[in-house]
Amino acid sequence: MSRLLIIGAGGVSQVATLKCLEIGVFSEILLASRTKSKCDAIAELAKGKINTAQVDADNVPELVGLMQQFKPNIVLNVALPYQDLTIMDACLECGVHYVDTANYEPLDTAKFEYKWQWDYQERFQKAGLFALLGSGFDPGVTNIFTAWALKHHFDEITELDIIDVNGGDHGQAFATNFNPEINIREVTAECRHWEDGQFVETPAMSLKQEYTCPEGVGTFNIYRMYHEELESLTKHIPTIKKAQFWMSFSDNYLKHLEVLQNVGMTRIDEIDYEGQKIVPLQFLKAVLPNPGDLGKSSKGKTCIGNIIKGHKDGKEKSIYIYNICDHEACFEELGSQAISYTTGVPAAIGTALVAQEIWQGDGVFNMEQLDPDPFMEMLNTYGLKWTVLDQC
Ligand code: NDP
Repeated sequence: MSRLLIIGAGGVSQVATLKCLEIGVFSEILLASRTKSKCDAIAELAKGKINTAQVDADNVPELVGLMQQFKPNIVLNVALPYQDLTIMDACLECGVHYVDTANYEPLDTAKFEYKWQWDYQERFQKAGLFALLGSGFDPGVTNIFTAWALKHHFDEITELDIIDVNGGDHGQAFATNFNPEINIREVTAECRHWEDGQFVETPAMSLKQEYTCPEGVGTFNIYRMYHEELESLTKHIPTIKKAQFWMSFSDNYLKHLEVLQNVGMTRIDEIDYEGQKIVPLQFLKAVLPNPGDLGKSSKGKTCIGNIIKGHKDGKEKSIYIYNICDHEACFEELGSQAISYTTGVPAAIGTALVAQEIWQGDGVFNMEQLDPDPFMEMLNTYGLKWTVLDQC
């Protein structure tokens, strides 16, 4: 049985921590974050079955100190993407496996590239350690859906569309479903999609279409945008000629975002405010609703899945693999809305597979490089049932 250190105590952490307990392969869990009271609140939901600590994950010596004290076998990083590299450094220093849900981003540029974390490949290999990158839903489950389709349905995949619909309503004028700073950086970035061996750049939100989800979830406007799994999937599955990522946004969300952008509130550079340096987007985050608190009021469903095209036995083929998740059911089960739930469950599953050495190896891995079968099985067991439809 492994000792697990979870870092970060936000919306995703609440679900991941409770699911790690439910999976039951960890002998001890320590939840540490910048604000210890948030860890304690999660520990209360976990009926005291975990311990908590304070840690600044930007500070490698502090992380090393905590790891030397607790002696984890594995760390699950559900803090922010800014902390990925410092936590990986501490894992290397202490001989600990590493799992996260989002790729590293420097604070001052919204870049979304795996380059920084892929640079750790040799160091993790030499140390005999496993780093699992992007074990959330997207990235995460969407990578696994693609790998599973390649293993069981295709000889080669040529086209991929990942479609992320949140058909839910939280009843707030404007709120984001996960960390507002990271979410707004992501949706305001230039769009990139993969076509004929390269990324093609287009203005943010410049391409939209209507999409009707299965099982009566509804019809929504989806917008093409860049998402980090496009980079690893097109690298590891080089037969993919075209790959696009689409996300639904309501007119109301886009109206607020446009105004916030126009008035400069989404800027990520420092400005001087009454003699103090502040970053407008970080200030905005402080006044927006906490995504972790949206569970109570969220209604409706999410529908996230992949449309995958390619060839099997010389014939063209297309399948759609998706999960539908109900905000109210998530709240009833774990006190969270569906975005935290759909991220926290795969984070816990990826961590459990690495901890049990069902997934093993030395180095830095993206999800599609691993055997998708045990992960797909655990999705069904731990709350994210999936469906596959043959489209032709
Ligand atoms: P939250 O903002 O709710 O939680 C982040 C947590 O990290 C907070 O508890 C915060 O502490 C803590 N934290 C931030 N900085 C530090 C630090 N320096 N040291 C220690 N702790 C720190 O975010 P979410 O739960 O919404 O998201 C968590 C992660 O999940 C993010 O990386 C996000 O990008 C990723 N994500 C991935 C998805 C996927 O499908 N792959 C989807 C959604 C999210 P404090 O409470 O003090 O602020």
